[in-house]
Amino acid sequence: MTSVSLHNTLTRTKETLTPSADGIFRAYCCGPTVYAPAHIGNFRTFLLQDVLRRVLKMSGYHVRWVRNLTDIDDKTIRGAQQQRIPLKEFTQHWIDIFHDDCQKLQIQIPEVEPRATEHIDEQIQWIGKLIRHGFAYAVADGSVYYRIASFPHYGQLSRLASQNLLAQDKNISGDADEYDRDTIHDFALWKSRKAEDGECYWDSPWGQGRPGWHIECSVMAMRYLGETLDLHGGGIDLCFPHHENEIAQSEAITQKCFSKHWFHSAHLMVDGQKMSKSLGNLYTLQELQDQGYSPMAIRYALIAGHYRQALNFTLQSLSTATSALQKLAKAQKQLQAIASTAPIVPATHDDNDISTKTSASPLTNAWKALREDLNIPQCLGVIFTQTSPSAIRQLSPTEAYRLLHDFQDIILGALGLALPEANTDPGDTTIVPEQIQQLAEQRLIAKQQKLFEKADQLREQIHLLGWRIIDRPDGFTLEEDLSNS
Ligand code: AMP
Ligand code: ZN
Repeated sequence: MTSVSLHNTLTRTKETLTPSADGIFRAYCCGPTVYAPAHIGNFRTFLLQDVLRRVLKMSGYHVRWVRNLTDIDDKTIRGAQQQRIPLKEFTQHWIDIFHDDCQKLQIQIPEVEPRATEHIDEQIQWIGKLIRHGFAYAVADGSVYYRIASFPHYGQLSRLASQNLLAQDKNISGDADEYDRDTIHDFALWKSRKAEDGECYWDSPWGQGRPGWHIECSVMAMRYLGETLDLHGGGIDLCFPHHENEIAQSEAITQKCFSKHWFHSAHLMVDGQKMSKSLGNLYTLQELQDQGYSPMAIRYALIAGHYRQALNFTLQSLSTATSALQKLAKAQKQLQAIASTAPIVPATHDDNDISTKTSASPLTNAWKALREDLNIPQCLGVIFTQTSPSAIRQLSPTEAYRLLHDFQDIILGALGLALPEANTDPGDTTIVPEQIQQLAEQRLIAKQQKLFEKADQLREQIHLLGWRIIDRPDGFTLEEDLSNS
């Protein structure tokens, strides 16, 4: 296993990711709220998590990944009520669309994808424990609140100043799942049934109602991964209050660290504002596909910036991504053309561990960039430099063969990008035409059979077609003969 390091929001430092004692790396990422199509801002976060998971797996980590589906909250209930259909039917529709979008974007399926509504009993039990231990209290209408003043570490993740906590009015409790740092308050663990909830309710020791948003993630994370996670992830907006509340609910009872590492990705922005449904400034995958952009161009555009920096979204960035993919496709084709003449190279490394494959490769630094704080832009920079047409032309067939494999491991494997067909524009001089390649191969065979006259004729034929053949100990490379033009 090769180590991967990542910035930890909890400690504000870059740390090596370490699996649990049994060698399994346990990660929980907050999934979508399924009441509408996920927008590409949501997908930025899910895609960055997907790249991290791929990098970990390719570095030899044994990963167990959980990403939940939030299928009960104010928005899902409102949607089901408006359409007059059962909550499950309403959310299933959006879950199916989410899964389709994930597939198009090549987001790998997590090991477990639990739904909040399938874990209501466990949430009720956890709330009961919190009440018994003095961390929560029920109020007259049957709702239950977490008492944040009972948890001395509250605010550690988001670095809330202690005076903020002291200033809060301890008698005010809030129903809202989302709130800001200025209105810190005890938060709802259980919400009593209201008329507008219709039939969306469950029985509990405190009366009919439903769980709050925060408790679902704590309970599902611990149910599938144990009391201490190796990593917990989400968009930066979840740091406070959602993740802060998850820590408070979990650690109050377990007295153990809830998650060793916190991975937050910065937002996708539009004109300086977070892309969000409430602001109405969003794009969905389908809308962009309808405008002719491929899911892979969208994937590229969303992962190409550093995950800790907000990314401004423009349609121009999708055109740039489309060209970048085409460039990579051409590089791949050029490498394939040169590598096809290489002698068979015996495997000298462990096929499951990319780090050994790239240890002496021009792409070593690309792989290193991914392993050090998921630096995708730096990784792409190295790849573009090392696979420029002129760099590739310098390679022997064996070098091209090795580079091609490392290139595919990173581009297709770690970054999860499927490349388009390379555009074979006749004016494009970076790709060796099939005819030239074949003539060069015939010449190599003629040389190996010591038919030197035939070999010379073929060289001349290649020259007349505007290409130059350069002999190498293990084959040849082809260069366009610009002196002819
Ligand atoms: P939601 O469906 O609202 O629960 O959000 C699902 C995930 O998307 C969460 O991890 C959010 O933090 C994340 N998210 C929401 N908006 C954005 C955005 N504009 N950019 C990046 N991530 C986002
Ligand atoms: Zn969550």
